[in-house]
Amino acid sequence: MTLQDVIAGVPTGLLIGGEWRPSSDGATYDVENPATGEKLATLASATSADALAALDAAAGAQEGWARTPARVRAEILRKGFELVREHGEDLAQLMTAEMGKPLAEARGEVTYGNEFLRWFSEEASRIDGRFNASPEGNLRMLVRRKPVGPCLLITPWNFPLAMATRKVGPALAAGCTMILKPAHLTPLTSQLFAQLMVEAGVPAGVLNVVGGANPRAISGPLMADSRLRKVSFTGSTEVGIALLKQAADNVLRTSMELGGNAPFLVFADANLDKAVAGAVAAKMRNIGEACTAANRFLVQAEVADEFARRLAEALGALKVGNGAEAGTQVGPLVEAKARDKVLELVADATSRGARVLTGGHAIAGPGYFIEPTVLTGVTPEARVFTDEIFGPVAPIITFTDEDEAVRLANSTQYGLASYVYTQSISRALRIGERLDYGLLGLNAGVISNAAAPFGGVKQSGLGREGGAEGINEYTATQYVGFPDPWQE
Ligand code: NAD
Repeated sequence: MTLQDVIAGVPTGLLIGGEWRPSSDGATYDVENPATGEKLATLASATSADALAALDAAAGAQEGWARTPARVRAEILRKGFELVREHGEDLAQLMTAEMGKPLAEARGEVTYGNEFLRWFSEEASRIDGRFNASPEGNLRMLVRRKPVGPCLLITPWNFPLAMATRKVGPALAAGCTMILKPAHLTPLTSQLFAQLMVEAGVPAGVLNVVGGANPRAISGPLMADSRLRKVSFTGSTEVGIALLKQAADNVLRTSMELGGNAPFLVFADANLDKAVAGAVAAKMRNIGEACTAANRFLVQAEVADEFARRLAEALGALKVGNGAEAGTQVGPLVEAKARDKVLELVADATSRGARVLTGGHAIAGPGYFIEPTVLTGVTPEARVFTDEIFGPVAPIITFTDEDEAVRLANSTQYGLASYVYTQSISRALRIGERLDYGLLGLNAGVISNAAAPFGGVKQSGLGREGGAEGINEYTATQYVGFPDPWQE
């Protein structure tokens, strides 16, 4: 199918109560291709009234969905998994068109993202509880996990499918109804995904989708409504903090997957070939637009020049272009603002003495391209060291010993992903204990997996997605106590 055919099959409305409909005031917004600047589609832009209509539907469907047997919920998720696999090529084309990632990576995201549907279809019937006697013997104690209730799921633009399945999968499995609010830059993938889930048998009102150009108008009234019980957000730390403050007023359960500033540590005893290959993967996956992207390369002084030379050679050889074209390894950044911010960070680093080993410039448009870049001689004051870069720029900083490496790695408010390359097992384990990060790749540049608990510490967030932990985010524990039957 051509991209035009795929787009023609994507619903353009809001999914509320099982029906696709226009926004209540007729407002729309456009979706653009960042590789060409061309308009791809025009979608309905939800108003506050639409958001509340979606909550009416979700609240109305909550009890029925919670009482639906886990096996039935699991089968619907499994059917969703099969439909996503069947339509994988359409979803990949949409992601490349609206977000910019190379088609091969978009296909990889379909596989990765879809695993959350399969994993949580398997977890749905394993929500357990316990039953025991109180220590005094006077009570019997039943502990069970119930669905938390209607959820608001807000996703970012960088992984348009995986960030949705990572929330929708466990919410459905746990028996929660939901309102999905996709990012306005990349809503097409979510629209098609939602349609596939409806086709898979998700009942009306259980999954609602309200995208729009004004996210605050959608999330504000929802979060102030006591029928909403949870918000799960993936996005920037700045917006996450604002949402946490709003959530406090309604004492909502929250899951927050926020920004990162991942250190990538290379010790002198590392296998340098593997370290460079891991560095390319950890830096360049998704054009550097990943919360897990290696943001700071901390390299032991003895091997720093060699590592920098080899990394520059590898990054300099990557083919930049429209992700839809064969052979493209690096696509455009998602919008002009994102490209300009990355260029600003490079200029700031060089003004403080950093040296550009490769890249460093924008590539003429249309589209928001930037050359893969390696910087050496970066100082900890440079903004590339403190800020989330979200682009194909690799700053290299040297360290002399383990203590300095750990101090530099931990000197950030973020704590999502970290990477360590060393051949010493005891060093690897020691460093792991000292790093304040939710995720650690040991001699590995990509570690995301549906079966693993993904999430950060510090300002990188609260809660975990995926793994056995992921479903807990959508359940509330209820304790039922009753008298010892021997004393009745
Ligand atoms: P963003 O915070 O700008 O937007 C994320 C979502 O929130 C979008 O749907 C957006 O429309 C919505 N939003 C924006 N402002 C809002 C507001 N005031 N009220 C309510 N909703 C609002 O983030 P982004 O630019 O889409 O995504 C990039 C960020 O996401 C990066 O910081 C990245 O690290 C982070 N991220 C984190 C993870 C993780 O798992 N920790 C995964 C992917 C991305």
